[in-house]
Amino acid sequence: MTGFELLPVATPGSTPVRVLTIAGSDSGGGAGIQADMRTFALLGLHACVAVTAVTVQNSLGVSGFQEIEPETVAAQIRTVTDDIGIGAAKTGMLASAEIIDAVVAQCAESGIGRDGSSPLVVDPVCASMHGNQLLADSALDTLRDNLFPLATLVTPNLDEVRLITGIDVVDVDSQRDAAKALFDLGPAWALVKGGHLRSCDHSPDLLYDGAEFVELTHRRIDTAHDHGAGDTLAAAIISALAHGFPVPDAVAFAKEWVTRGLAAAYPLGAGHGPVNPLWRVSGPY
Ligand code: PLP
Repeated sequence: MTGFELLPVATPGSTPVRVLTIAGSDSGGGAGIQADMRTFALLGLHACVAVTAVTVQNSLGVSGFQEIEPETVAAQIRTVTDDIGIGAAKTGMLASAEIIDAVVAQCAESGIGRDGSSPLVVDPVCASMHGNQLLADSALDTLRDNLFPLATLVTPNLDEVRLITGIDVVDVDSQRDAAKALFDLGPAWALVKGGHLRSCDHSPDLLYDGAEFVELTHRRIDTAHDHGAGDTLAAAIISALAHGFPVPDAVAFAKEWVTRGLAAAYPLGAGHGPVNPLWRVSGPY
């Protein structure tokens, strides 16, 4: 594999770098915790999990989900951070305002977040690619007001940017406006993903820390099989952050990881297949 260096891997018997995903389960195995775990394992990390919801899902969509009690979500975070210790964390599907508030309180207590010892990436999952809602409408304010200020980095896609900031990103100028509006909500960094920006023939992501814009451009992979791409990106970002990468380098690394996963994506069931980080073991793309 040329031009893309993977992360260092611990020798057998020594403890790998650890991360934590706070996210929902996807019974179809393409997104959520299952996507995160594939990336963590293939990058050689040990991953801890705080399950927030169990979705009933296949390649055609999400037909329902059951939320985990907020106290149980917080207890999962507390018990692994107290004992195992983690280098970085991410949030995915959080389902409700009550779960968000439990996560915010426990992350702050456990030193997870922009001012803590472990960086926190917030992937503000609102709906699936099929349009199935994964976050209650009433939880949007809580996400924006309580969780965003704790984040080291937020990684919304363009639909999520519209819901959170009201800005419709249609070109590079509105993408900059959106990055500023997201930054103003309190994270240390905002990433506006351009994968859904169909006016561009490449995939332009924009990163902003209140001082400078970092543009990250990658080839666009046209595939219907991109289920779990957002989760995979955020999982790869925290993998690199846990290894001590600065945020722009972690995002650039993760973007390449996802691009290769999209190039290797496979059909699954009658709907959308998942991004496929298994190229890592099955061969280069
Ligand atoms: N299901 C779960 C549990 C998720 O966490 C996510 C995204 O984070 C999805 C489904 C949706 O993934 P996609 O937008 O790729 O369909």
